[in-house]
Amino acid sequence: MTANIEGTALAGDTRAGVPPSEARFRSLIERAADAVLVIGAQGRVRFANHAAQELFGAGADAAGRDTLAGQPFGVPLAGAQAAEVDVLLPGGARASCELRVVESLWSGEGVWLATLRDVTRRTRMEEALRESEERYALAARASNEGLWDWDLSSGEVYYSPRWKAMLGCSEEEIGTRPDEWLERVHAEDVERVRSALRAHVEGLSSHLEAEYRILHRNGSYRWVLCRGLAVRDAQGRATRIAGSQGDVTHRKLAEEQLAHRAFYDPLTNLPNRALFLDRLRHALRRASRRKDYLFAVLFLDIDRFKLINDSLGHMAGDRLLVLIARRLELALRPGDSVARLGGDEFTVLLDDIRDVSDATRVADRIQRELMSPFQIGGQELGTSASIGIALSATGYERPEDILRDADTAMYRAKAQGKARHAMFDTEMHACAVALLKTEADLRHAIERGELRVFYQPIVSLDSGRISGVEALARWIHPERGLVPPSEFIPVAEETGLIGPIGRWVLREACRAVRSWSAGGASDDGPVLSVNLSSRQLAQPDLVAQIRETLAEADLDPRRLRLEITESAILEQIESAAATLLELRAIGVGLSIDDFGTGYSSLSYLQKFPFDTLKIDRSFVEVMGEDGERSEIARTIVTIGHNLGKAVIAEGVESPAQFALLRELGCEAAQGYLFSRPVDGDTARTLIAVGTRW
Ligand code: C2E
Ligand code: CA
Ligand code: CA
Repeated sequence: MTANIEGTALAGDTRAGVPPSEARFRSLIERAADAVLVIGAQGRVRFANHAAQELFGAGADAAGRDTLAGQPFGVPLAGAQAAEVDVLLPGGARASCELRVVESLWSGEGVWLATLRDVTRRTRMEEALRESEERYALAARASNEGLWDWDLSSGEVYYSPRWKAMLGCSEEEIGTRPDEWLERVHAEDVERVRSALRAHVEGLSSHLEAEYRILHRNGSYRWVLCRGLAVRDAQGRATRIAGSQGDVTHRKLAEEQLAHRAFYDPLTNLPNRALFLDRLRHALRRASRRKDYLFAVLFLDIDRFKLINDSLGHMAGDRLLVLIARRLELALRPGDSVARLGGDEFTVLLDDIRDVSDATRVADRIQRELMSPFQIGGQELGTSASIGIALSATGYERPEDILRDADTAMYRAKAQGKARHAMFDTEMHACAVALLKTEADLRHAIERGELRVFYQPIVSLDSGRISGVEALARWIHPERGLVPPSEFIPVAEETGLIGPIGRWVLREACRAVRSWSAGGASDDGPVLSVNLSSRQLAQPDLVAQIRETLAEADLDPRRLRLEITESAILEQIESAAATLLELRAIGVGLSIDDFGTGYSSLSYLQKFPFDTLKIDRSFVEVMGEDGERSEIARTIVTIGHNLGKAVIAEGVESPAQFALLRELGCEAAQGYLFSRPVDGDTARTLIAVGTRW
């Protein structure tokens, strides 16, 4: 069994009848779990036990000597002290051994007795443990999380310094009681935390996870995410539960902000359309359950907001919207809600009202609130709203429908003059439906060739001859017949269809008027008046468009006059001035249409390069047989002339009006007295024959 060991003298010794005590000693050593080497003088291995041969393999002696070579045997190592040495194993691997050396006698000779215990495994485990502990400590520090460890048998909780610091507390300020934690949890959350803990301790959940608010030393609450895991004994009873707590306040706030943004208007902080529709849905549900429950929806559109926005700038406009929002809130009861749908549109839900009068009363109160001046950019300005009202009594099912009807009623209120309210009725609904149909049909009117241009002569009051014509659009609808412009021009404006329609009218009229003077020079013949809507005035390519059309038709620019209403100019106040100047520069005439119906004074309009103004029909209409009620017309003619403008009267129906206007010095007139708007051929004939009045 020791045959492989060099120094066979040992084996020989055994057989050579060594004393029995030594034999027993040898056999003990032979069976020892540790490797034992008996080392004689010059480091020669005299004996290696079984474990030593396992450790060092066949070369136990050489390996033993190598291992021990250089080890300062004797004084430092001899004794109970153990040293850890690296042993090179036969396969090339290394083993970590605990080495102890004692002096002994072997066959009467002084030897070293070296025992080696392989501690590789133990060392590895220790290292692994230390590494994992370090890693854990590092991770805990890096993750910025507070740690806690609850000993369920003693009832004490260890809170890490970070755990305490997260709550603004120093090390000493928080003890080891569980209540240091639970008492700080927000009242609304604490029951949830307790039951999550209980569930995990009882083994009902695989781990503990809870998000809750916890009191910071500064009195605020922080949102934290707590995770934990229980340690269980052989019976599965939890003995300890430990985990981490991380601050998630930022994430929570971000989540809240996102949720807020989805339902609130960022400018005014009022509920947005989505939230308002949701509230309407709830109200409708309540209305379907309770017969006596009535609510109203108010749809508000701020009057002339665009004018304020364009003249004072968007910042001022935004500021006004915010102030309006605050005033609206003031005008309402706590149960009511106000929302901003976008732009200058607001909606109000009046909850649980008794009857219609409650809704109209609130509408009046809102008007009063809006009337008292706002301070905007060092300026004081009052405003008003057009308000549409729809009542739940009509039996709605979808929130969108009641909102749409309130919107329709708002349009009615606006049309009736601003600062008013109107109640939705079914007649309005029919109107709204018809309007939608008109819009759909109008989209195809041009391509289907349903549009025509009619011409109404404009008569010079000096000569009694035709000095111009006004182009007026006509729509020959396949089912409805002739649709008056008052019915389709506003729809075209609202939908943007006025762009293509206006372009078409302009091109068609220029072409026609030019053809009437065929053979003649391009500057010979009546002046063509074409109406321009506010939407058209806002087109950035308007000037180029007109220049092109004139060139195409070979019409002298001086033969074109654009008619623009006061309100259209006011709506485009910033861009209008530049556009109008450019048009004047190419020679096109400009006329203020429907003069006297707007809000502005002539001296204000003087800023714009108009050469003509048209007295609105309403002032001509009232002029009687013997000149009574002609003061306004007279005033307009006088002011117009003082400012160097030519004046045209429209809607002249009687010879008396004609005579009066001539007396006032008005340059030209148009009206049924002379001719209704007629088609192109008729207009051409009227001109060709030199009609005279
Ligand atoms: P407007 O520019 O004030 O046009 C004059 C309107 O007065 C015309 O109505 C004309 O037929 C009507 N009228 C003329 N003489 C008399 C009269 O003696 N008595 C009465 N009671 N009415 C008279 P129409 O053609 O229905 O046009 C209505 C409005 O539609 C026009 O008012 C104009 O603002 C708009 N419009 C018409 N065509 C166009 C167009 O091509 N483009 C744009 N943007 N607007 C147009
Ligand atoms: Ca006109
Ligand atoms: Ca007019």
